[in-house]
Amino acid sequence: MINVSFPVGAFQCNCHILVCPLTGDGVIIDPGDEPHKIQQLLAEIESNLGKPISIQYLFHTHAHFDHIGATRSVKESILQNRGAGAAICLHRQDKRLYGFLRLQGAVLLRRYKKPLPVDHFYEDDEEFFVGRLKFSIRHTPGHTAGSVCLLLHENSEIQCPEILFSGDTLFYRGVGRTDLPGGSAETLIKSVRQRLFVLEDDTVVYPGHGGKTFIGYERRNNPFVS
Ligand SMILES: [Zn+2]
Ligand SMILES: [Zn+2]
Repeated sequence: MINVSFPVGAFQCNCHILVCPLTGDGVIIDPGDEPHKIQQLLAEIESNLGKPISIQYLFHTHAHFDHIGATRSVKESILQNRGAGAAICLHRQDKRLYGFLRLQGAVLLRRYKKPLPVDHFYEDDEEFFVGRLKFSIRHTPGHTAGSVCLLLHENSEIQCPEILFSGDTLFYRGVGRTDLPGGSAETLIKSVRQRLFVLEDDTVVYPGHGGKTFIGYERRNNPFVS
């Protein structure tokens, strides 16, 4: 499995490009900023793999500007260069927030173009098959009402461990802030305990910001939810 993870933008949101090495199908999670860097990495992965990459989905953990800021440019350049794919996916409860991208940016004196329409709203527990990659969606409200975590299931055929992309819900020894519109501390703690801490100890966690961790470590050591 090809997993290229890198921080983008002033807020250092972790963006991920995940590709099935057998089919060349892939996804991008949280294209928050620096669309040119994302395009360049896609091209590098493609030349290393030696076959064309087809990005099927742009998955978003939630609709804060630092996670959706480059969605429009990335989708437009994929359409231009590759013809199809890159369906924009989001939870419906973050639809308003997504539509307010320009307003979110204005508060920080950042300019954004109007966001493109969302192509697909996730259902809770929905599954996505991308080449040999299998993802499932866990709705984990609290940081925002429509926050989700994406679980990538283990698959030994492509050396893929079980990985959780936790957005701004769960961090290394921390959790996301809940003082922004749509946030709720009580709901977030419930989401983490009921939807994330039930996963296996050795599930790798890639948070929306900062370094990776493991479910077992957080269950024992996270001061906010353990
Ligand atoms: Zn956020
Ligand atoms: Zn964030």
